[in-house]
Amino acid sequence: MNFHIMTLFPDMVKGGLSGSIIGRAESAGLISVEAVNIRDFAFNKHNKVDDYTYGGGAGMLMQAEPVYLCYEDIVKDIAARKSISADEAKPRVIYLTPQGKLFDQKMAAEFSEEEDLILLCGHYEGIDERVLDEIVTDHVSVGDFVLTGGEIPAMIVVDAVSRLVPGVLSNSDSPEYESFSDGLLEYPQYTRPEVWHDMPVPAVLISGDHAKVDRWRHEMSLERTKERRPDLYERYMDRTE
Ligand code: SAM
Repeated sequence: MNFHIMTLFPDMVKGGLSGSIIGRAESAGLISVEAVNIRDFAFNKHNKVDDYTYGGGAGMLMQAEPVYLCYEDIVKDIAARKSISADEAKPRVIYLTPQGKLFDQKMAAEFSEEEDLILLCGHYEGIDERVLDEIVTDHVSVGDFVLTGGEIPAMIVVDAVSRLVPGVLSNSDSPEYESFSDGLLEYPQYTRPEVWHDMPVPAVLISGDHAKVDRWRHEMSLERTKERRPDLYERYMDRTE
C-alpha cells in the first residue's frame, strides 16, 4: 500500500512515521510513505504558497495552483508505475480537515483496501475551496478540535491504516480482538508479575479455562464500553438485540 502525503512539512511527516512498527513495515516493503512538498510546486520566485483570503478576515490560505500541481505530479507517477493513464490512476484523496467525517476504525479498514492513497495536509487557515472541489474525494477529521496543520492527522490515518495491511502486525498483535473491531472497547489486560502493588491479576485469567476467560473478557468489554463510551454501547446493544 502506498501513501502519498501532500504537505508543507515533509520532514515532520517522514520523521513521525519512520520509527517502530510503521518504520519496519516500510523497510520490509509492505507499505511506502512518500511525503511530497507542496512548496516545490510554487509558481513564484519566493516559493510562496499562501495568500490573503477574499472577503477579508484573519490569516492566510493555501493557494489552489501549487496544491493542484503537486496532486497532478503524484497521479502522473502512479500512472507511470502502473502503466495506465493519469485518468485511470486517480486514487482517493483524503483532505484532513476539522470539517470532515470523524475518522474511525471502520474508515481505516476501508482505506486499507486501497493500493494508493493521497493525504492532503492543510496549514494556516486551510486551502482554497476550488482545488478541494476539484481533487478531494474524502474529508476526514481526527476530532472536534482545531490543530495547526494536517500533518499529525495524516500520520494518525497512516498509522491506523497501515496496521491493517496484511503482514504489518505479527499474528500475535492481530487487530482482530482490539477495541472497535466488534463495536466494543477491549477488555482489561495484565502481564507478569501475577501480583503487583498488592493487586493480583483476576483469578479467571490464570484458571486455564478458555471458555471462562472468553466470557469474562466479553463481560469486561461490555462493562467498560458502557461506562466509558455509552454511545458505542447503545449502538452495539441495538445491533445485537
Ligand atoms: N480554518 C479551518 C476551519 O476553521 O475549519 C481550520 C484550519 S486549521 C488551523 C489548518 C489545517 O489543519 C487544516 O487545513 C487541516 O488540514 C488541519 N486540521 C486542523 N484540525 C484538524 C482536525 N481536527 N482534523 C483533521 N485536520 C485538521
